[in-house]
Amino acid sequence: MIRFESVVKQFGDNVVLDHLDFEVAAGDRVTLIGPSGSGKTTILRLLMTLEKIDGGVVWVKGEPLSHERKGSKLVPASEKHLRKVRQSIGMVFQHFNLFPNMNVMENLTEAPIHVLGRKKSDAEARARELLAMVGLSDKEKAHPTQLSGGQQQRVAIARALAMDPDILLLDEVTSALDPELVADVLDVLRQIAETTDITMLIVTHEMNFARDVSNRVMMFDKGRVIEQGPPDVIFTNPKEERTRKFLDAVL
Ligand code: ADP
Repeated sequence: MIRFESVVKQFGDNVVLDHLDFEVAAGDRVTLIGPSGSGKTTILRLLMTLEKIDGGVVWVKGEPLSHERKGSKLVPASEKHLRKVRQSIGMVFQHFNLFPNMNVMENLTEAPIHVLGRKKSDAEARARELLAMVGLSDKEKAHPTQLSGGQQQRVAIARALAMDPDILLLDEVTSALDPELVADVLDVLRQIAETTDITMLIVTHEMNFARDVSNRVMMFDKGRVIEQGPPDVIFTNPKEERTRKFLDAVL
């Protein structure tokens, strides 16, 4: 589903990803952990084509992100190609990022109608299913400012799913929330993990959540994967001293 092949990303002299290689199979739930600044968010942003890479190739569903096929040749990706790749990926950010001038229903149906070309009635029917799933059926007409942070984040999750993505990227989705609002958001994500086969890439400091939903944990340091494995192994018996130190600090 996703392959990073010798990916280099730098901001000025700061090499953030240093010939990074990893693969994520369809249906995998992978949690990225590691110290702040180790490149986790950059990986998600590269997948969303919010950043350009400086070397290597990012593959999504067998196609390179930065290039497209023209006959037997690879040429730099057109905006149309990028839009198509982005459609298969949903992302939920730390700060909700709902459209502030639209109500909840409009937030959920805007892209399905205008990007996927769905009929309004179909988009609304799907939105209602998703709002039921995230426990917000009574908030269709509410505007984002009338919702708590936790409710806004559940709308953002529903909005990402409304595009029927193959891949869901979750970037610290609970870290801006008051503690009492975190559990509801994590419950929704647990449910998605249990009831769908969406491939998930998760950046989180919620280690119990990571343990519950992911089948693999990748520990990053300075733009490289220094250790990876099933959560039970990484969390209870890490090999690397740097992983142990990091976990001691966050657990
Ligand atoms: P993490 O998510 O692991 O905390 P990030 O991917 O956010 O790490 O950041 C990795 C490094 O890239 C940091 O050193 C950060 O300062 C730098 N960085 C991220 N985005 C930018 C940017 N837009 N401009 C300059 N430096 C950036």
